[in-house]
Amino acid sequence: MADENQHYQWCIIGAGVAGIAAVGKLLDSGIHGSRILWVDDQFKVGDIGTKWHSVPSNTKVELFIRFLKECDSFQFNKRSNTFFIEKLKPDETCQLKHIADPLQWVSDCVLKEITTVKGIASHLKVKNHCWEISTSEGNFKSSNVILAIGGEPNSLEYNNLTEISLKDALDYEKVKLACDGAKSVAVFGSSHSAMIIVRNLVELNLPRIVNFYLEPLKFAQPMENWTLFDNTGLKGSTAHWARKNINGNLPENLYRYPATDENINNHLYSCEKVIYATGFSARKIKVAELADLKHNVTNGIIAPGLFGFGIAFPEHVVDPFGYKEVNVGMWKFMAYINRVLPLWLRYGL
Ligand SMILES: Cc1cc2nc3c(=O)[nH]c(=O)nc-3n(C[C@H](O)[C@H](O)[C@H](O)COP(=O)(O)OP(=O)(O)OC[C@H]3O[C@@H](n4cnc5c(N)ncnc54)[C@H](O)[C@@H]3O)c2cc1C
Repeated sequence: MADENQHYQWCIIGAGVAGIAAVGKLLDSGIHGSRILWVDDQFKVGDIGTKWHSVPSNTKVELFIRFLKECDSFQFNKRSNTFFIEKLKPDETCQLKHIADPLQWVSDCVLKEITTVKGIASHLKVKNHCWEISTSEGNFKSSNVILAIGGEPNSLEYNNLTEISLKDALDYEKVKLACDGAKSVAVFGSSHSAMIIVRNLVELNLPRIVNFYLEPLKFAQPMENWTLFDNTGLKGSTAHWARKNINGNLPENLYRYPATDENINNHLYSCEKVIYATGFSARKIKVAELADLKHNVTNGIIAPGLFGFGIAFPEHVVDPFGYKEVNVGMWKFMAYINRVLPLWLRYGL
């Protein structure tokens, strides 16, 4: 049980894939489990564990498995059971539910080693040379804090239209229910998520699907030893579907328009429902000393002893042609923390 009088060495807020990687790497680096505090409202593997089960991944099976085997403290190599994902072809993508199950197993495994608080962290402040973390379950002290709090989908909020949540739109059965009886549905975006949703709606045979986009579709293109549009390009089965159905040869029930004011005025308001697949913004947490939660985009440092990690605080990367992207994905988080943790271990209050 978490102790309000104890001074922890590390506190991790968030138990999605980023939080799991952070806890695993801290344990592997020799920090004793009794000195680590982990805070999450559910401990159900964040968004991958609770929202995107039926979504086709853009990561190959081999990288998912590499994540699970990367930390000794995950004990994945010592398990006696076999997970379904291990039977899949390593160089193919899969539904995200297949990685959610082993991640929950790994999360439960490290949970036993450390102290946890099942609740919401509301704010942080520096007090007596350490961070004080206020949560729904009490106030705790830690020398260092890693924020791995994830993000929420952006919304554009056009008036007079009923919004279908991104979570429901990405799930074929749920979007089928949400669109029951609708003749016309709008989708904003051209990302991986947007194309999965457009595909869901096309396959539901809705009479009219209107897709507003800002940019042409991007496809991830493997090169010699790097990938063009690795983070923003379509991959796997979604890329395959989009190449076949979007470029120049639209299904009969799909209409696509650049998201200009004129197109929106002409084509949006005849739709009954709308779905926004327009990216994510970091979840919020109040830090007393800081007006704005800005992280250094090359090393995750927010302030001494305070670090941002995961989709809320992504690393920015530049490809060999100088094109910048945010680096998001389970394996990318793991590779990143391998590089930044030695720095975080030295950059305390
Ligand atoms: C359609 C789609 C497909 C995707 N496909 C892939 C893929 O193939 N491969 C891949 O690697 N990634 C994929 N992703 C991305 C992946 O879902 C995210 O990168 C990942 O979930 C982010 O993990 P995270 O740990 O940063 O955040 P989250 O998963 O959001 O976890 C954050 C956790 O912190 C908790 N939390 C937040 N605030 C607080 C607080 N104040 N107090 C306590 N707890 C708090 C939350 O409840 C949650 O449990 C996909 C995403 C989408 C939308």
